[in-house]
Amino acid sequence: MSEKLTSADSRDPLAIGVDIGGTAIKAAIVGIRGNLLESFLEPSPPTASALHAFVHSVLKSAKAPVRGIGIGCKGIIDAGSSRVKSLPGDLHFLEGQLLSEVIAAGDVPVCAENDARTALIAEVLWGAARGRRNVVMLTLGTGVGGAALVDGVILRGAGGAAGHLGHVTLDPRGGLCICGNYGCLETHFSSRAIESDYWAHMHRAAHVKLSKGSTGQPPDTEAIFRAAAEGDESACCVIDRALEYLGAALVSFLHTFDPEIVILGGNIAAAGPQLIAPIQDKIARRTKILLGREVPIVFQKIVGYGGVAGAAGLVFLEQGLLAI
Ligand SMILES: [Zn+2]
Repeated sequence: MSEKLTSADSRDPLAIGVDIGGTAIKAAIVGIRGNLLESFLEPSPPTASALHAFVHSVLKSAKAPVRGIGIGCKGIIDAGSSRVKSLPGDLHFLEGQLLSEVIAAGDVPVCAENDARTALIAEVLWGAARGRRNVVMLTLGTGVGGAALVDGVILRGAGGAAGHLGHVTLDPRGGLCICGNYGCLETHFSSRAIESDYWAHMHRAAHVKLSKGSTGQPPDTEAIFRAAAEGDESACCVIDRALEYLGAALVSFLHTFDPEIVILGGNIAAAGPQLIAPIQDKIARRTKILLGREVPIVFQKIVGYGGVAGAAGLVFLEQGLLAI
C-alpha cells in the first residue's frame, strides 16, 4: 500500500527511510526538511528476500535519485556495518545479517540503526528535540525502546547496546524478560505487560468491566486506559501500577542522563495526559534535589512515521547534509 503525500522542491535531497517493526514495515521517500513525499506500509516481511523485494519496490517508485536508504530496526544494530547483532522475536531471521547486503541496492548506500534511535533522530532533526543536545526518548509500545542524545551525540556504547532503557531492572525478583533479565521496565510497563496484568485480573475473577475478544484475546492497552478513565477498578489498578513503574524508571533516567527534555513516543503515548499527569509531580519531587529543576516530559512530535523519517535522517547525517 502506498500513499502520495507532499510535493518536493526539486532541489531537495531525498532519502528512503524504512522502519521494520514486529507487525508492519513502513517506508517513505523523505525530503531533507523531514517532509514525506510518498509512504508505504505492508505487513512485516517473513523473510530477508521479502524485505529486499519491499525496499526495491519503494526504490523503483522514487521519481528522483535518492541519496541513500536508511533502515530502523528493533534489536541491536551495528550502525557502522549495518549488521543485525541481536534480534529476538518474529524478525529473528535477520539476526547476523548485514542489512546493506540484504537490501543490495547497488550504488545507493544503505545505513541502519536501532528503531528507537531513528525515532529520536527524527525528533532531534525536525521535532520536539530540535536544538537540544541532551535528550532521552522512550518508545512505549509492545515493548519499550529507548535512546539518548548525550552532549549532542547519539549514545551507542561499546557494542551498540547502549540506551536500551526498556531493560533497566525495576524489580530484581520480577518476571523473566525477552532480554534474559528479570523485572525490566518492559515487563512492568508495555502493552504486553498492561494487557497480561489485566488478563490476570480477569483470570482471578476480579471485578472487570471489559470482556475477552471474540477469539478469547485479552482487551488491548487502549481499551484498558479507556476503562480506567471510566472507573473500571481493575483497569485503574493495572494502569496505576504500570505508571508507578514508568515514573520510577523516568526518575532513574533523569538522574542518569540529566536531559533537557524527555520524549515519550510509541502507541501508548497516544494515551496523552492520562500517561503523564498522574506521575509528573512525583517525578519532579524525586529529582529536584539532584537536578534542581523540573525537566519537561513531552510527547513525540513526529507521530506514526518518526522511525521512518529518522531512518532517512540517518542518511542525511551520515552524508553531512544535516548535523545535530
Ligand atoms: Zn529486559
